[in-house]
Amino acid sequence: MKVALVNIGRIVSGDFRHPDRAGDGILTDGGKIVAIGSADDFDLSSCDVVIDADGTTAIPGLIDSHVHITFGDYTPRQKTVGYLESYVHGGVTTAISASEVHVPGRPRDPEGVMALAVAARRCFDTYRPGGMRVHAGALILEPGLTRENLVEVKRLGVWLVKAGFGAFATPYGYAELIGWAHELGMTSLVHTGGSSIPGSSGIWAEHLLHLRPKVSFHVNGGPVAMPEEGFARLVDESDIALQVCTAGNLRTTLLTANLLRDAGQFERLLIATDTPTGSGIMPLGMLYTISHIASLTEIPPEWAIAAATGNNAAVYGLNSGILDVGRDADIVLVDACAGGSKNDAISALRNGDVPAVGAVVTDGIPRFVGRSRNTPATTRHVRVASSKVVQQFTAEHG
Ligand SMILES: [Zn+2]
Repeated sequence: MKVALVNIGRIVSGDFRHPDRAGDGILTDGGKIVAIGSADDFDLSSCDVVIDADGTTAIPGLIDSHVHITFGDYTPRQKTVGYLESYVHGGVTTAISASEVHVPGRPRDPEGVMALAVAARRCFDTYRPGGMRVHAGALILEPGLTRENLVEVKRLGVWLVKAGFGAFATPYGYAELIGWAHELGMTSLVHTGGSSIPGSSGIWAEHLLHLRPKVSFHVNGGPVAMPEEGFARLVDESDIALQVCTAGNLRTTLLTANLLRDAGQFERLLIATDTPTGSGIMPLGMLYTISHIASLTEIPPEWAIAAATGNNAAVYGLNSGILDVGRDADIVLVDACAGGSKNDAISALRNGDVPAVGAVVTDGIPRFVGRSRNTPATTRHVRVASSKVVQQFTAEHG
């Protein structure tokens, strides 16, 4: 499918070092971005769908790097179906599993956790709820797993390993497994902060500095934060990516963002939600944390957007998260909400408002155009200007 977005007011790239892209149009073909620039240069007659952005702002689809995936579009924790599709209406186009720890009766033996990760990975190979790309299958590290076990699951497509819920006496017990995972090119994720599951111990900065994972999961606390002195230590004494989550401690989210900005290492800040959890299902969680950072710190809104898009893509090695030629065609149109005091999405974020989502394209396919089911309406009028596809792209909403 060939899709053009025209009449874009501003293109925010998702790369905090180069946050603005010149132009008013984005052309996609076969799931990839093939051109960004002046829409006058596009051959619109060859497009299957042309979306008139009406001056709204284009950003990359948001990447939530901490989602409690199970199987299907269902969360047992909140007994709810359709939450991933609902997140697409919050501008989220990619969900990365925080391990399938919420599967009822989940196994805890080596063979069981391997089978669970492989099954989850395979179940989302082609299944895209509401258009969402789901990277599922994070191996839950448990005692007894061998290097050969990691080689085997890697061969079967699993590339994420998760430490924090295993039956180790102390967090230091994960060190050997994480070392093997890194040797095999896998991405390691370590729970940080107080325990979220009764009986599991807290994981603090001294543990992380010993384990050296790729990502500190919810460094701000999931939901309870580690001791204060640990934040500066992690920033200064490691290169671990520091993920901040909506369902955590807001004060330490802002602390982490400021520390990384001041250290000149903003690329290490990752925004995620850590949902569904006891905190609920949060379709607008990514947008809330972006607006919190953009309004309660001096960090530019475009950088906060990058922490939710390009930064996540770089750490996880994804081809989405940046608006550029050759990248995945995961694109979101955002705007100031109708009736607010600001005139565009970036000003609204700086004001602390959640932006309105006006259209979501994932894998080069428009998933809805006009109005999100979950945000207020846009100020401007995003619409389908022309379409050769027999489909109603307008989302149903009350
Ligand atoms: Zn979590």
